[in-house]
Amino acid sequence: MTGQLELITPYLPVYSEPIHDTQNNDKPNLLAGLLAGDFSALYGGSHPALKADEKWPRCETCANRTPLVPYLQINLSTECTPAEFRNLVPPLRPDGVTLFQVFVCTAYGENPGNCFEDWISGAAEGKAWLVRVVHFDGDADGLLASEAAEFQEAQRSLVTELVPTQRIVATWTPENPEVPHRETLFQLGCTDYDEEFYDAHEPVSGLKLLGHAILGMVENLPGDGDQEEGCSSCNADHSPDSAWSFRCLVQLGTDVVDDCDESEFMTSGNTYVLQCTRHPYVFQGGRSFSW
Ligand SMILES: [Zn+2]
Ligand SMILES: [Zn+2]
Repeated sequence: MTGQLELITPYLPVYSEPIHDTQNNDKPNLLAGLLAGDFSALYGGSHPALKADEKWPRCETCANRTPLVPYLQINLSTECTPAEFRNLVPPLRPDGVTLFQVFVCTAYGENPGNCFEDWISGAAEGKAWLVRVVHFDGDADGLLASEAAEFQEAQRSLVTELVPTQRIVATWTPENPEVPHRETLFQLGCTDYDEEFYDAHEPVSGLKLLGHAILGMVENLPGDGDQEEGCSSCNADHSPDSAWSFRCLVQLGTDVVDDCDESEFMTSGNTYVLQCTRHPYVFQGGRSFSW
């Protein structure tokens, strides 16, 4: 039976050379390159592109409202970003630059790990991330914000040892198409599949765009347990087929990474940005782990 084994191509980051400057591994001028579309994305670091008049987003889970870390900032207006991804998260306008940004709280959590993990596992209230699609008219907005005193104060108050080292994602490369993860198949009641085919197309770990999520035996996905129910736009539409359905848009990290790279943001579990398949700008967090 192969009906459930829908193949989806994942895209893995292709980093430019890592930046070896331990005194200051964040280069503010990389924001100019990001907004100019010289490369696809920035991973980690402490320089979010913000509108000139907006404040640095802060955590709504931890008591001291820690500034969130710009975990991933993807330019949706450059051809350095895969067309398949740009089609699923279309730029807000044809002119200027649209970014897809994922911010997470890397402050220490109540449990081992970080605040973001506490929240996304359902162990803590509030909101320890921000995922958004934002438009910039030109390359000035994001750079003006970084000169503001508020920006610099927020930057100084990050827990720096927990901020992932800033890296340039030049582009993303399509990899071997993936089948749904074994645990997903099990949940779908699909137990009679071609093992050899599965092994040849098993989902990969670590940061990736699209593909299939690596699920463990325990999940905290939208609509499961205590987490907020799915997509508010879908929920408002009471037609019989309005059930929430999502895709794994970005796998942020996994607890085990093939070819582990020390600069990866390690999570004690697998974390994802899920996207409503009907509403491209509705995102939810997902987490799964096997213990
Ligand atoms: Zn926090
Ligand atoms: Zn929806």
